[in-house]
Amino acid sequence: MGRGADRRNKGLPAISKDEFSEPMLARIRAEQVYAIARFTPAIFVVNIWNVLVLVAALYGTPKEATALGWAFVICSVSAYLYLRAASVRDRRPTRVSRAAARIIVIAAAAVGGLWCLAPLMFIDHLAAGGAMLVIVCMCCGIMCAGALVLASMPEAVFAFVAPVLAGSLIAIDRSDLVGQYHISLLFVIYASVLVLASLSYYKQMGARLLKQIDAENAARLDGLTRLPNALAFREFLDRALARCTEYREQAAVLYLDLDGFKPVNDRYGHAAGDEILLQVARRLEETVRKTDFVARLGGDEFAVTLVDVGGPIHVMAFVERLLRAFAAPFSAAGLPQEIGLSIGISLAPSDGIDADTLITKADSALYQAKAAGGGASRFFDPKHAQAVQERRDLEADLRAAIERNELELALQPIVQIATGRIIGCEALARWRHPTRGPISPDEFIPMAERTGLIHELGRWIIRDACRIAKLMPSDAPISVNFSVAQLRSASMTADMLKIMDEFELTPDRIEIEITESLLITRDDPAIDTAHELSRAGFPIALDDFGTGYASLNYLRKLPLNRVKIDREFTRDSVDHADCAAIVISVVQLARTLGLDVTAEGVETEEQLAFLKTIGCGAAQGYLISRPIAESELAALFARETAKALAA
Ligand code: C2E
Ligand code: CA
Ligand code: CA
Repeated sequence: MGRGADRRNKGLPAISKDEFSEPMLARIRAEQVYAIARFTPAIFVVNIWNVLVLVAALYGTPKEATALGWAFVICSVSAYLYLRAASVRDRRPTRVSRAAARIIVIAAAAVGGLWCLAPLMFIDHLAAGGAMLVIVCMCCGIMCAGALVLASMPEAVFAFVAPVLAGSLIAIDRSDLVGQYHISLLFVIYASVLVLASLSYYKQMGARLLKQIDAENAARLDGLTRLPNALAFREFLDRALARCTEYREQAAVLYLDLDGFKPVNDRYGHAAGDEILLQVARRLEETVRKTDFVARLGGDEFAVTLVDVGGPIHVMAFVERLLRAFAAPFSAAGLPQEIGLSIGISLAPSDGIDADTLITKADSALYQAKAAGGGASRFFDPKHAQAVQERRDLEADLRAAIERNELELALQPIVQIATGRIIGCEALARWRHPTRGPISPDEFIPMAERTGLIHELGRWIIRDACRIAKLMPSDAPISVNFSVAQLRSASMTADMLKIMDEFELTPDRIEIEITESLLITRDDPAIDTAHELSRAGFPIALDDFGTGYASLNYLRKLPLNRVKIDREFTRDSVDHADCAAIVISVVQLARTLGLDVTAEGVETEEQLAFLKTIGCGAAQGYLISRPIAESELAALFARETAKALAA
C-alpha cells in the first residue's frame, strides 16, 4: 500500500521492473497474456486469409509445393496458438510465470520468422510489379495485425515485427518496385510506430493496473491493524490448500479469539480496545514463520494458516509459542491488561481440503475451546461438532429474538413478611423459542454474556422494566438483574440516567441486583460502576448471597441496600440446623449493617414462619407467587389494594 502511494505521489505511471515484487509482476504478466489471448481469434483469421491469398498467387508456379508446405506450417502453428489461447480466454489467469511469458515472446518470434520467409522464398516468383505489391501489402498488414494483438507485451511486438520487417526490407530491396527506398523507409516508420505504440499502451495498462492492485490490496487489508483481512485470508488458504493437495503437505487453520478483550473494550472504550488489537497484531506477526499467514477476521478474532506442518505435534508447538507470546500483559488506557487466547484448530487434509470446511471446523473447535474457559486450545472434534452447531444456531436465534423484540419480562412479587404487602417485583427475562419452547435464563443469559449480546439484551431489559415500573405503585420498585459485563461498561450510569429521564422515573424505582459470584477481582471495574449507580440513587441488592466465595468481603466493598439470601439456604433452613444458623446470622449481620434482607425461593409455610420468627424483612418465592406475566400485574395490585382496605 505504502509503496503504491509513493509511486502515485512521484507521478510514476510507468512500470519499471525493479520496483515490483514478483507477485505483482506475475499479476501484470497475467493481464498481458489475457489481452493477447483475447485477440488470437482475429489474428488466426488474418493469418489464414493471408496464407490463402499468397498460395493462390503462387498457384501454378514452380514454388507451388514449397508454398503449400509453408502454408501448412503457418496454418498449423496458428491453429495450435489459437487453441492454446482458448484456455487462457476461458480461465482468465490471475498470475503468469516469467517462463510462460517468455514462451509468448518466442512464439511471436517464430510466427514473425515464418512470415519473414514468405518474401524471401517467393520474391523471385512474384517479381511482376502487381504481385510484388500484394506481398508488400501483406507483410505490412500482418505486421500491423500482429503488433495489435501483441500490443500489451512490447517484447513480443518487437520479436514479431523485427523478422517481418527484415524480410520485407530484403524483398523490397530485391524487387523492381518504383520508389523502393521510400517504401522501405515507410516500413521502418510503420514498425517503429508499432513498437512505440505498444510501449505506450503497456505503460497505460501498467498505470491502470497499479491503481487496480492498490484498490484490491486495500480491500484485503484490515483498516486498523494493517493485517490481511478475512477476504485475504480466504484467498491465501485457497492457494495453500491447492499446494497441499499437489505436494501432499499438511496445513493447519488456527482460529483465535481474545480472552479478556471485551471487558477492556467495555470499560475503557474503543480506543483502548484498538490499542490492544494493534499490540495483538504485532505479537502475532512476530510469532509466525514467514511462510505462515496471519489475518484479522474482525472484532477480536484472528486467524493463522500454518503451511507445510508436520502434524498436530508441530501445531501444538506453535500454539505454545503463541501462548508464550501472550503471557506478558498488554497495555491499554495506560494500564497493563491481561489478554489471553482461545484457539480452535482444524487440519488439512484430515479435516477437509477446502477453505470453507476448514474455517467452519476451526471455528467449531474455537467454540469448544471458549466453552472450556480462557486460554484453551482445541483441535476439531466431530463428536462435539453437532452440539456446537446447535448452540451457535441458538445464539443466532437469540440475536434475532432481541432484534424482533420477542423476549418478555416475567415479574415475581417480593413481599414484606410482617405485613404481607408487596414491596416490589423482580423482573426475570423470558424467551420462548419458536421451535424449542421456553428457554431458561440460566441458559440464555450466560450465552448472551459470552457473545457480547448482553449489552443489547441488558438495554432492552432495563427499558422494558422501566415501562413496567410505570404501571406499578410508586413505592414498589422493580428489581432488575445486572450482568457483570453490563456493570463494566464505563457509560452505564449515564445510560441509566438517560433512560430514567426518558421514562420520567426516579432512580429509586429500579433496584439493581448484582450476583456476587460474578465479581472476580478486588479491583473489578464493576465495583466502581456499582458505586456510581448507588450515588446516582439506584438501590443496589446483592443477589444469591452466600453462593460466592467472598460474600462478607462484598458486604464491605459494594454500596448495598439489600442482600438476597440464596434459595438454597432458604430451602434447607428448616431441615438443616447449620443452614438455619447461617440464615439467622445473615439476617442479624444485615440488621447491624443497616441493610434490608430478602429470602429467595420461599416455597413452604414452614419456611415463611421460620423467616418471620428470625425477623427476616422480605420474602420471594413460589409460596407467595410464581413469576407472573405483565398482564397479571393489574389484578395482583387490585387484590393488594382490596386487602389493605379490608385490613
Ligand atoms: P435469580 O436472580 O436468582 O432469580 C430467581 C430465580 O429463582 C428465577 O429463576 C425464579 O423463577 C426462581 N424462583 C423464584 N421463586 C422460586 C422458588 O420458590 N423456588 C425455586 N426453586 N425457584 C424460584 P429464573 O427466572 O429461571 O432465573 C434464573 C436466573 O437467571 C436468575 O436467578 C438470574 O440470575 C438470571 N436472570 C433472569 N433474568 C435475568 C435478567 O433479566 N438479566 C440477567 N442479567 N439475569 C437474569
Ligand atoms: Ca435476581
Ligand atoms: Ca437470586
